[in-house]
This record gives sequence, C-alpha cells and structure tokens, in this order.
Amino acid sequence: MTAVNENWNAAWREQMLPTLADERWDLIVIGGGISGAGIVREAARRGWRCLLLEQRDFAWGTSSRSSKMVHGGLRYIAKGQWRLTRDSVRERQRLLDEAPGLVEPMSFLMPHYRGGFPGPRVLSGLLSIYDALAGRRSHRFHDAQQLRFLTPGLKEHDLVGGTRFVDALTDDARLVMRVLHEARADGAVVLNGLRVTQVLREDGRVCGVEVEDGESGNALQLRCAVLAVATGAWAERLRPSDSPRQLRPLRGSHLLLPGWRLPVAQALTFLHARDRRPVFVFPWEGATVVGTTDLDHREDLDQSASISGEELDYLLAACTQAFPAAELTATDVLSTWAGVRPVVGAAGEHQGKPSNETREHVLWQEPGCVTLAGGKLTTFRPQAIEVLKACADMLGRAFEDDAAPVFAAVQPSPIPGLSPQQWRRLAGRHGRDLPRLAQLIAEVGQETVGATDTLWAELAFACEAEMVLHLDDLLLRRTRLGLLLARGSEEHFAAIRTLCQPRLAWSDERWQAEIQRYRLLWQRDHGLPEVTP
Ligand SMILES: Cc1cc2nc3c(=O)[nH]c(=O)nc-3n(C[C@H](O)[C@H](O)[C@H](O)COP(=O)(O)OP(=O)(O)OC[C@H]3O[C@@H](n4cnc5c(N)ncnc54)[C@H](O)[C@@H]3O)c2cc1C
Repeated sequence: MTAVNENWNAAWREQMLPTLADERWDLIVIGGGISGAGIVREAARRGWRCLLLEQRDFAWGTSSRSSKMVHGGLRYIAKGQWRLTRDSVRERQRLLDEAPGLVEPMSFLMPHYRGGFPGPRVLSGLLSIYDALAGRRSHRFHDAQQLRFLTPGLKEHDLVGGTRFVDALTDDARLVMRVLHEARADGAVVLNGLRVTQVLREDGRVCGVEVEDGESGNALQLRCAVLAVATGAWAERLRPSDSPRQLRPLRGSHLLLPGWRLPVAQALTFLHARDRRPVFVFPWEGATVVGTTDLDHREDLDQSASISGEELDYLLAACTQAFPAAELTATDVLSTWAGVRPVVGAAGEHQGKPSNETREHVLWQEPGCVTLAGGKLTTFRPQAIEVLKACADMLGRAFEDDAAPVFAAVQPSPIPGLSPQQWRRLAGRHGRDLPRLAQLIAEVGQETVGATDTLWAELAFACEAEMVLHLDDLLLRRTRLGLLLARGSEEHFAAIRTLCQPRLAWSDERWQAEIQRYRLLWQRDHGLPEVTP
C-alpha cells in the first residue's frame, strides 16, 4: 500500500496548475463533497485519467455539515422509500467493515411514553423490516427501569420503555478526505480553490470547463471527454439556462454542546412535540450533537448556511422535552452548523412539507455531461457508480460495478504509546497515510489538543500534506477543533500558530489575515444567531 500525500500542499498545487490544460482528461468532476469524491475514487480505480475541481475546500458544502449518520434511515421505510433504505443499510455495513475508526456503530434509542406514537409494537414492526433489509437483527425493547440506566436524565413522566437499534456515525469531512486520498493513490488529480465558471460546449456536446483560481484570480480552460457535476445544492447553476429548475434547497441545523453538559452514551431519537418530526441527541467526538431542523433555505447559496434564532429555539426545546432537568440554554452551546440539502422537489404550489420530500437522488444528462442531484452521504458509492455508468455509456466504454472496496485495508502496525482505540481512530481517518502520521507523532508527540481526541500531530500532518489553503480548512474540516473547542478553539491559537505557521509557510501578515478571516467566518457560520429569541 503506497502513501499518497507526500507533498499534497499549496506548493504542489502551484506546480500542478499550469499543467492542467495540457491534458485531455477522460473525466472532470466538479465538486469536492462526498459525491464528487466518490465519483473520482471509482473512476480512478478503473484507470480513468481524472481531475476533481472544488471551488472552496473539500467538504466545504453539505458534506461537512450533515448529521454524520451512516444509516438506513428508519423514516424512509415509513415513507415507503425501499430502494433508498436497502442501499443505505448495505452501504452502512460496507463502511463499517471497511473503515473502522472512521465509521463506528452507534446504538439509537427511541423512548416510548404512555399513549405516544410510535408505540413499541409499531416501531418493532418497522425495525423488523429494517433488520431484514440489513440481513441482521439489531433491535430490542428495554423497560423503563433499564432505560434509566441507558439514558440518565431522560424525562420520566409516563415513560414505559424504549426500543434500541443500531446504526452508525462518522466524521463526514474526514470521510470525504479518506475517499479523496484513495482516488489520489490511483492517480486522480484533486484540487481545491478552483471554481468552474462555465461549462464549455462544442457541436451540442460538453467538451470542457472554464475555471477560475480563487487564490490568484487566473482563468483556465480545461478539456475532457466527459464531465460529472456533483455540486450539491449548486447543481442547477451549471445546467443549460433553459432546463427546468427542480431543486428545493432545504436547511438542517445542529447544536453542539459540551459532553459534560448533556452526557449521552448513545443516540436518542424522538418526535419533537411542536411538529412531530424526528429529532436526535447523540455523542460525537466527546461532545453532544442536537439536530436537526428541516426548512426551506431561501438565503444566498454563495454564503454558507447558518442557524436562525427560530431553529436554535426549536432545538433547545427538543432538549428540554427529552431532558427537562438539564435546563439547557443558548449559553451552553459550543458551536452550531447548518447544511443545505438539495432535494429534488415538486415546484410552486405543489410543494409539500420539507420533511415529506424524497431524499432519493436523480441524474440529469446532456451529451458529454452527467449531473447528480440529491442523495445521501451514506450511499455515495452506489450514487457514484450510477453516474459513472452514465458517463461510460456516453464514452462507449464498458462499466461494471465490481463492488471492490472503496478503501485500501490498513495494516495493523501499532504506534508506540498510543492506545488501541487511538490507533483505530487514526487508521480510520488516515488510512494509507498512517506511517507518515506515525513519523509526525514521533516528532511532535502524542498529546491531544485540549480535551479532544485530536492529536497535535494530526494538525501538523494536515498542514504538510492535506492541501490546507486557509485556516478554516484546517480547523473546521481537516480537524473539527473549531467546532469542538470553545469559541472556535481561540484559546489554542498561539500553540496552533507555533506548530502550523512554519509548516504552511505563511508570513506573519498572512497568519494575522487568516485569523481575522477565520474569526468572522466562525461567528457567522458556527456561532449563535445574532438575534436569539
Ligand atoms: C442537515 C443535513 C443533514 C444530513 N444528514 C445526513 C446523514 O446523517 N446521513 C446521510 O447519509 N446523509 C445526510 N445528509 C445528506 C448528505 O449530507 C448530502 O447528501 C451530501 O453531503 C451531499 O454531498 P454532495 O457532494 O452532493 O454535496 P456537497 O457536499 O454540498 O458538495 C458540493 C461541492 O460542490 C462545490 N461546488 C459548487 N459549485 C461549484 C463550482 N462551480 N465549481 C467547483 N466546485 C463547486 C461546493 O463548494 C461543494 O463543496 C444530510 C443533509 C443535510 C442538509
């Protein structure tokens, strides 16, 4: 197994840019979220010469702002979305098997209250179908007494018990990075900070793209045999102007609370008293996530989405409903994030409630170009296969889903001084780059940043070899320190600077400018809304 990230950094990017136009790429993929990553990974594995272009940073869009569940989606069964559920539970199992440490099983508990819906029988019926699709039984009922041990602090009045089932959680931004690393190992060229401004067409067929370098402002024209557009909520922007508009952007927001403030050992899911929508509270990276909302996102898509005052109030009310004694308020919130889901919805007056819109994906095709819209993090692999089958048809190439692993297996080689759990976590997140990370651990030490599980050595690794262009790439996506530590990790800025500034080759002025940019961005996208109810 070869390491791939020796020099994947800004200097490499500078060398690479002037060479891009010399090549006629088999495939150009637009969008560096999980969809684009999955497509480029599967294409590179088959020997296609491919290039991925991301306008901002990898996972900058929804793929770092999801609910982080690798799941079948119980509610999709209730809505009769069988294909989505079946594909999702299969992919969940595949990811659990292939990427332990990055995708981990998580117990979900749904409490039952006297007279409440769904009762234990109905839920057990749904979960039996869920289990049958997954090929294994994972659910069981616990009485109220057991539930008190499983979820201390849960509202007790009228509690009759709860049903437990198993799904999985991940770090979505790291999942994207791991998939991209695999694509690079198979020869794909993967670049951020490059925005596609125009799709080029010749004789009615897509033949390339015009690109703007966000760092220098330079423009480039690149040629390809086929183009895959995986731009998520932005998918309609690059379509021909006369194509019908079908995307309905829906926003979902989350709160992150310090783990000690609302300690949960497993995920709790329940229906919000205000609108009967399922919401959840779960442990993630030592903190507690509360999510999510589901409403029309009418703001400018060029600004990242952020939580509104009403959403904050809704999510805090969910906490109070389930854990009244915790008495949580906005001052307890560590950070927030919001993602935009591009659901393919009905137009105009036919629009229903956001939660009723299907989460299935669709493909739009025109000669030389396939666009993927909608979908889920969990099902990135089958979605990518579908896109590539359509691309292969356009190229007259054969294409089979050989169901080969997405990730190369990581050789078990313990790193001295690290616990087996730490090794598992690093192996899951860094895969084939583990030996390089081990060298950095020997150099930098085994300390973690604050009370998080993130090693200082991971920051060093990201700076040296994970294409960090800006400070927010490092603190919000390569690591999640900006979400997990108070005020975006402000308390650690001095130590981060000592370790990272030389590795990023940034001047003092550049460092100050990055800090300023990061503070503004963090406050806007991850702080509390300005007007709280
Ligand atoms: C609130 C919420 C919670 C969710 N929770 C889950 C969950 O728990 N489990 C699950 O399986 N799924 C979940 N999903 C769905 C899942 O997150 C998305 O389906 C997935 O992340 C979409 O990935 P993507 O790559 O298609 O889009 P994105 O991640 O948005 O990536 C698109 C990328 O394209 C780039 N781009 C756009 N235009 C251009 C251009 N012109 N040039 C270059 N680049 C461009 C953007 O910068 C962006 O990085 C959730 C979605 C939301 C909104």
